[in-house]
Amino acid sequence: SKTDRRIVAGNWKMNTTPSEGSVLAQGVIDKVAAPVGKVIFGVPAIQLVKIKQLTAAAEGYYVAAQNMHQKADGAFTGEMSAAMLADARIDYVILGHSERRQYSGEDDTLINAKIVAALDAGIIPIYCCGEKLDIRESNNQNVVVGKQIEQALSALSPKQMAKVVVAYEPVWAIGTGKTASPQQAQEMHAFIRQMISDQFGSEIANGISILYGGSVKAANAEELFGMADVDGGLVGGASLDAQAFADIIKAGQ
Ligand code: PEP
Repeated sequence: SKTDRRIVAGNWKMNTTPSEGSVLAQGVIDKVAAPVGKVIFGVPAIQLVKIKQLTAAAEGYYVAAQNMHQKADGAFTGEMSAAMLADARIDYVILGHSERRQYSGEDDTLINAKIVAALDAGIIPIYCCGEKLDIRESNNQNVVVGKQIEQALSALSPKQMAKVVVAYEPVWAIGTGKTASPQQAQEMHAFIRQMISDQFGSEIANGISILYGGSVKAANAEELFGMADVDGGLVGGASLDAQAFADIIKAGQ
């Protein structure tokens, strides 16, 4: 059911020192005890172990890395492997965020390799997809997002697919203050769920969490999360404020 699929994830990006991050995470935990569904903090690498400790003591709270290398190990200076995350009991990893696509040249072939590596290690990938503004303006968003999904999730077994979390994040709505309308979000989420259903069957499609991302705030969360196929959100800016993020977690509950 929709309640079972509920996830609110924060993406702190390159914000918060370790001291600030611990105060932020604990602040949210103190404001919302035992949230409906799952709450995930997507934190800078240096904070993963500490925030894991904080969330392990709080029902419903989890931690995510913001990136991960696709290879098992080796000469990749500055990178972090799935096995490292798994050993530290990190629950999730955000993969394919638009900022990594833009600044680090990630494409869906690479992201597919990362998704497989994460799943093999028992880490749940939060796969980000979404179209740029010109694509939306020419009404080609389904073609583009359809291709992203097809490539990034190709060759997954049904068992693997059942674990994946999808985040639809229209690039024109990330950090811009512009939000997709609830109708635009619903339309795309339904399209994504249908694609997954066509490939993996309706049982898997109906179990998967599809999150909306792009300028989610307390003021618009309830309406967005109220849509049939919007199972929660991936939240950037507003996840850096404990009260704002707490209000988003509680939206529509
Ligand atoms: C994001 O980075 O995933 C995001 C959705 O950012 P914001 O909420 O700030 O638009």
